[in-house]
Amino acid sequence: MALQISRKHYAQLLKWAEQAAKEECCGLLLGHGGTVSEVVQAANISADRYHNFEIDPATLIAAHKEARNGGPQIRGYFHSHPNGLARPSKTDIAQAANDGRYWLIIANQSISAWEPRGDGSQIFALDAVPLIVEG
Ligand SMILES: [Zn+2]
Repeated sequence: MALQISRKHYAQLLKWAEQAAKEECCGLLLGHGGTVSEVVQAANISADRYHNFEIDPATLIAAHKEARNGGPQIRGYFHSHPNGLARPSKTDIAQAANDGRYWLIIANQSISAWEPRGDGSQIFALDAVPLIVEG
């Protein structure tokens, strides 16, 4: 399934990636179904922010709480690749869960969308999906 994001949010993600420079930025994609209606930056709490990311659990907990109270759902995650790799790394695939959520990867001033393919709790790959930028 394709993922849709507004130009404003697309530009915001590029800006956060640029501001994080050589570190990976990360955060949440909120919305419904295949539409992103909000992007939330989170602190990267990884011990190695230059090569990895780990979303601050406080941001995740707050988003889950908001979703339970009728707010937008967590539809995915974003992070940047300062090394310019415009596809999921082996670590990304190892970290992904078979949760039906999208992954956005920001690299080289561009963003690509991915979704996990797996069986039960096992992930085989993150497959490329179209990212529609409009609105
Ligand atoms: Zn990555």
